Amino acid sequence: MIYDYLIIGAGLGGLSAGLNLVSKNKKTVILEKNSLPGGMTTTFKRGRFEFDTSLYDIYDYGTKDNIGTFQKLLKRFDLNLDTTVIPFNALVLDNENFNFEVKGNFEDFIFNIENVKKGSLPGLKEFIKITKEVHEALRIIENNQEPNEEEYPNFYKYLDKTTLDTLKDLKIPLVSIYILSYTWVDLGINLSKLNFIDFAEYIYKLIFKKDVILNTKSLSFTLKLVKKYQSGGGKIYYNSEVVNVTKKDNLFLVKTKDNLEYKAKNIIGDIFKRYFFKDLYTLEMKDVNKLENARSLSPNGIIVFLGLNKSCEELGLKNYKYYHYNTLNSDACIKTMNDLYHDTYEVVVPNVYNKEASPKNTTIVILKKTYYGDALNALDKTNYETLKTDIAQDLITKFENHFNIDIEEYIEEIEIATPLTILKYSGSVNGSLYGYSKKGYDASIHRLISYESEQIEGISFVGSSSVFGSNADNSFHSGIYVTDKLLNKGGSKNE
Ligand SMILES: Cc1cc2nc3c(=O)[nH]c(=O)nc-3n(C[C@H](O)[C@H](O)[C@H](O)COP(=O)(O)OP(=O)(O)OC[C@H]3O[C@@H](n4cnc5c(N)ncnc54)[C@H](O)[C@@H]3O)c2cc1C
Repeated sequence: MIYDYLIIGAGLGGLSAGLNLVSKNKKTVILEKNSLPGGMTTTFKRGRFEFDTSLYDIYDYGTKDNIGTFQKLLKRFDLNLDTTVIPFNALVLDNENFNFEVKGNFEDFIFNIENVKKGSLPGLKEFIKITKEVHEALRIIENNQEPNEEEYPNFYKYLDKTTLDTLKDLKIPLVSIYILSYTWVDLGINLSKLNFIDFAEYIYKLIFKKDVILNTKSLSFTLKLVKKYQSGGGKIYYNSEVVNVTKKDNLFLVKTKDNLEYKAKNIIGDIFKRYFFKDLYTLEMKDVNKLENARSLSPNGIIVFLGLNKSCEELGLKNYKYYHYNTLNSDACIKTMNDLYHDTYEVVVPNVYNKEASPKNTTIVILKKTYYGDALNALDKTNYETLKTDIAQDLITKFENHFNIDIEEYIEEIEIATPLTILKYSGSVNGSLYGYSKKGYDASIHRLISYESEQIEGISFVGSSSVFGSNADNSFHSGIYVTDKLLNKGGSKNE
């Protein structure tokens, strides 16, 4: 059998690519190395707890009346998610005793910033207006057109600017900039490097399409995607790790670890290009490698999953998210984040909004700490278990002390994921959590504009390391965008 498309990996990008291709009657096969679909978006069980690795915020899904891109793309395949819209609910602290609570909707947030620093409002309002302009301009580019300079002046003005420079340009006071961008760790890059367009698009999604969470486990969502894909005639094989790809007479020959061979006219990798060209593809592709090697990997990290035998009310965990920073200044903070025991981390308590997150009278707490630089190279075979346990213990103690809570004695289950876990499970190079960093010339806008020129005959890439970057909505979107291009439809959506 010769497939039209062979997809490596059943992450969200691979699955959405598969769905789109079978909907156009393309003979498609997905080879997935794990025994389950979803990649980084998965669910695992420990004792009576079922942990989700991801999807604690789903961006750009929207509501019933205000549909976001993610929802719109799912609707193409008669699919939807069982979701709840959640308000902002985070407690933020830093080592310099700066603290604030973010509650309610975005307007409340903006007014609270004004209360902290009078005179912030005009710049913040202007910024919000610009996010809309940016969002619209991006959709135009995505559909292979050029936004009109007169209609989108700010988009052009700030196209190549960093987030920090732009927010300063809008006369937003520094302290207000830091508060506005309190989730910068989730974007994996500091404000003086983060491209403004990416920040604006992220905030646009939060303001106008809301933050939603799944009412189900994420595995039931990815299994739903697989079912739909299979009902369209798509094939998926699990436990099928691709180890080698060659090309002969315009056909790709793909080998798996268990020595099975597949033939396909086109390959789609839901994996890093860098991994594909270094480890899987046998042809030397000097130019591709040069470009790939110039890209920066996003940070990796340690994630600690805790199953606690008390309810979140009993534990006094009222907030959905907790952020602790060495300092709220992201540029200064990032310099401290190469120390194994640094003070910057975030915590999510899913039970605050999802009573079904774990059994009655229990709570799931997930702590995440990211690292810039090579700190985690210290994890090797000889000290792996002790060091990761030590870092996790330090993180739990820090969370208890910084936020004045008590969780350690209630731990029933604990699982620690390191960069090695992430690398082994998803294939993410270096265990990177957010694909490639969206900095400098490699921001989404540049990836969109240079998309065509980066194409290699018969080989495409989707997922968090590809065109739109990380997060579930972007990964899913990339699979549709790329396959729409391949199917020669030109553009994936037009809002
Ligand atoms: C801890 C954590 C929390 C997150 N939280 C959120 C969140 O709250 N909201 C949000 O929107 N996003 C979140 N994300 C990001 C989101 O989960 C990812 O961006 C998204 O799932 C990535 O999808 P992907 O298509 O890039 O595929 P990946 O998830 O990277 O999957 C790649 C797939 O390829 C397979 N594969 C790799 N190599 C091979 C091979 N050689 N042969 C066969 N198969 C192979 C892997 O097994 C895997 O299934 C989070 C990520 C992490 C790690």
